[in-house]
Amino acid sequence: MSLDIPSLALMQGLMFATQVLVLGLQYALNRSYKAPGQWVAGAALMALGVILMPLVMVKSLQLLALFSNPLYVLGLFFIHVGIVSFLGGRPSIAFLAALYSAFLLAYLGLIFVDFDLGPRTVVLNAVMAVVSLMIARDLFVRGRGDIYGSARFVAIVFLVNAGLSLFRGFDALGLPAHSGYEAQAGMLRFAFVYPAVLSTLWTFGFVIMLNQRLNEKVAELARQLERERNAALQDSVTDSLTGLPNRRRFDETLATEFRRLRRNHAWLSVIMADIDLFKDFNDAHGHPAGDECLRRIGGLFASLVGRAPDLAARYGGEEFAFILPETDLEGALILAERIRAAVEGLAIPYAGSALPLRVTVSLGLASQAITETETQERIVRLADEALYKAKRAGRNRVEVAGSS
Ligand code: GH3
Ligand code: MG
Ligand code: MG
Repeated sequence: MSLDIPSLALMQGLMFATQVLVLGLQYALNRSYKAPGQWVAGAALMALGVILMPLVMVKSLQLLALFSNPLYVLGLFFIHVGIVSFLGGRPSIAFLAALYSAFLLAYLGLIFVDFDLGPRTVVLNAVMAVVSLMIARDLFVRGRGDIYGSARFVAIVFLVNAGLSLFRGFDALGLPAHSGYEAQAGMLRFAFVYPAVLSTLWTFGFVIMLNQRLNEKVAELARQLERERNAALQDSVTDSLTGLPNRRRFDETLATEFRRLRRNHAWLSVIMADIDLFKDFNDAHGHPAGDECLRRIGGLFASLVGRAPDLAARYGGEEFAFILPETDLEGALILAERIRAAVEGLAIPYAGSALPLRVTVSLGLASQAITETETQERIVRLADEALYKAKRAGRNRVEVAGSS
């Protein structure tokens, strides 16, 4: 089988055009990254360069063929810029522009000043080898994370491209001065075949890299969503002023504990605590000071009853509630008294009002063995009734439900 150069050029042109199509579609479907746009542009420039190549055989269109190699090389520069940006680097445009200008100058000089195919081939392949090596280096150095494997694959393809360009450049060094295309006919054929194969491989690599990067992004988004969901969930059961669990969390926890404790009729205690004469405190010190007072008392309660399965919650306003699973009356009474004394111990001063000297709380306590007939509502109501008993009895004290 013997293929002439125009047929090879046509086939190569079609292959590059297919790559433009593949990369273009990928880019059109997903524009999350800037780099694939540069890959499309690069592939398109290379395709155009290849398509113009055989025009060198057509006398009237020979001038157009002059653009062929410069366009092809420019395409490779675009791909380099795309790769660097994709990998999160910053391409040195000034350096690339200088390199490209130097190439263009030498290349055009070897057409218009001293037409010589051999040196021109050397210059062309030297610059392609340099850019391919730069691309390979970027991929080796920066291709980390999920794209590690595909980046390495593409890097190797560009290394091979650099090697073959060097090979072809060295071969052209040996050409006699001012020789024609015939002198390198075999090499010319080879020069049409290997870029077609390698560019197909790197295009394939690009698409894989892009998809892996997208997977990485989707996974990161999923993790972020999960974090935000957890945070929102946490927020919905947390009181923003004190940071304590809120009423909703209290109700949910109580329901859970009821289900758990009911199995063996275990004890459960609920304590309701209400700040004494807090309206007066607000009136005397202002609402912000009232908030600060709630925050301090909330912090104290969290430190006193912080450990699971016990729970201290802000029940609403200046009322707090405690769930003490597997705690009978005796144990709960000790804790309630400790809570009462601790609030007094905070010694938050009361100004303005004549009666109390410092902020205190009243507490109501209900303890029940959780049987089938026992309900959540009843134990809370009992604790509440005990609390009002404590208020009527003079405040800053603990009362127990059902006791006289
Ligand atoms: P008692 O000893 O009978 O409980 O008297 P009290 O004044 O504490 O009772 P009352 O229910 O009349 O008043 C509760 C006050 O708590 C009314 C309201 O201004 C205050 N309060 C409720 N929630 C907040 C809050 O989030 N911040 C502040 N600063 N005050 C609050
Ligand atoms: Mg109240
Ligand atoms: Mg109160």
